[in-house]
Amino acid sequence: MLTESTLSAAERAAIDKVPRGLFIEGRWRATARTLPVFDPATGAVLCAVADADPADGLAALDAACAAQRDWAATPPRERSDLLMRVHRALLADTDRLGLIATLEMGKPLAEARGEIAYAAEFFRWFAEEAVRLDGGYMPAPTGGSRFLVTRQPVGPSLLITPWNFPVAMGARKIAPALAAGCTCVVKPAEQTPLSMLALAEVMAGAGLPAGVVNVVMTADPAAVMTPLILDDRSRKLSFTGSTAVGKQLLAQCARTVMRTSMELGGNAPLLVFDDADLDEAVEGALAAKMRNIGQACTAANRILVQRGVAGDFARRLADRMAALPMGRGTEPDVVVGPLIDAEAVDKVQRLVDDARARGATVLTGGTALPGPGTFYPATVLIDVPDDAELCHTEIFGPVAAIGLFDTEDEAVNRANDTPYGLVSYVFTENLRRGLRVCEALETGMVGLNQGVVSNPAAPFGGVKESGLGREGGLTGIDEFLETKYIGVRL
Ligand code: NAD
Repeated sequence: MLTESTLSAAERAAIDKVPRGLFIEGRWRATARTLPVFDPATGAVLCAVADADPADGLAALDAACAAQRDWAATPPRERSDLLMRVHRALLADTDRLGLIATLEMGKPLAEARGEIAYAAEFFRWFAEEAVRLDGGYMPAPTGGSRFLVTRQPVGPSLLITPWNFPVAMGARKIAPALAAGCTCVVKPAEQTPLSMLALAEVMAGAGLPAGVVNVVMTADPAAVMTPLILDDRSRKLSFTGSTAVGKQLLAQCARTVMRTSMELGGNAPLLVFDDADLDEAVEGALAAKMRNIGQACTAANRILVQRGVAGDFARRLADRMAALPMGRGTEPDVVVGPLIDAEAVDKVQRLVDDARARGATVLTGGTALPGPGTFYPATVLIDVPDDAELCHTEIFGPVAAIGLFDTEDEAVNRANDTPYGLVSYVFTENLRRGLRVCEALETGMVGLNQGVVSNPAAPFGGVKESGLGREGGLTGIDEFLETKYIGVRL
């Protein structure tokens, strides 16, 4: 049964202010069906938003296609100015937007506000990049003709985002798309549409032209998005989500040989060598594990510690984890908010039980809390064997799984023994070892003596089954540009 959420007046006001319709061609559009949005801290319904059907999806693509030519022709400085206005508007509205993200997703308010600042920074970064699109002019090696190289927007783009960073994952795609001169259809996750709707409203308020960004949410993403992916007017798919869905979408993109960027799942190893600064390693592990209540693609999934320091490290981490306040994300000081839904709690419990059955010991946590809400306590497991299922599956919860190793070679081989390759973390005070191990790890990103790598100015992305392409950094805009070569005969 669906119950109404009990919210404070300020929380109710924040939810009620968010538009509930689809955002197509600069207008809010209601639909016959609606999609409930839940508060994971209570399981109650926050509100209901429009639920797109395939015709709505096509209307959104029509709008993006209609706006494409003018947007591509808009001077880069004007595109940049718009992005900068969005940057400022997001920062000015951090508290409200953070509260919306917390209410629909569960993360602690401090983290949600951090996410808004992170999202805002993508708009600033790509505002700065919009005016720096470069090209080239060079003589052909055989002489005579010249090569003129320029870059053009790839065209109408489909942007599909997950629920775990409901604002930032959108910002990381929308900002470079707009900077490059692409229009887009954005599909947020069905669990967290409000954050994207609020972002669309902020962009509209900053002067976004009609049709440049269109937002459709739906209870049936395959029905609405498959026709758009197969439509040859769509020129780009930028997807963030699970590897399983990413693979399906890649197969669909083959039909029109569509450009893709894929930010998929992870299984990050975090290596602690016996020469590490253990205080730093514990804090780094805590950050890498607990950001977003463990529900991050970058979450440390397998913590491998050299045998001599493993006991000490595990005890210290367990003490820190056990002391983390748990509760509704809106309560002060809470670090461990609810997981996204009951299915997530069941999965985490199953993985912990499996590790235990295979010989792991629970140092703290280990048992889901009864409802209401979908809470799982911060948990530390030690002596986790490599055959435990959680070593091969994204845990996506606040469970630190510690295994032991003896040698550097063994650590690297075990770290790389996964089809994923998003990020890894290394803690050592030995610079040579640190760089050697960073180079040997098969991941797109490595944190050396730090537990957080995300930064709008750095290239974010994975190798192997963690994805294709990079978001942010100096190359982030390239994902939305085509290189055109013009041969000039003099
Ligand atoms: P998901 O794959 O279930 O869903 C992601 C998005 O895809 C949602 O918007 C969903 O509605 C949509 N979707 C699902 N099926 C679809 C279909 N057939 N056609 C079109 N769209 C479809 O993932 P999730 O549970 O929302 O997010 C968690 C996953 O995202 C984890 O695996 C996590 O590691 C990954 N993730 C990766 C990154 C990264 O940058 N690499 C960042 C955040 C999350």
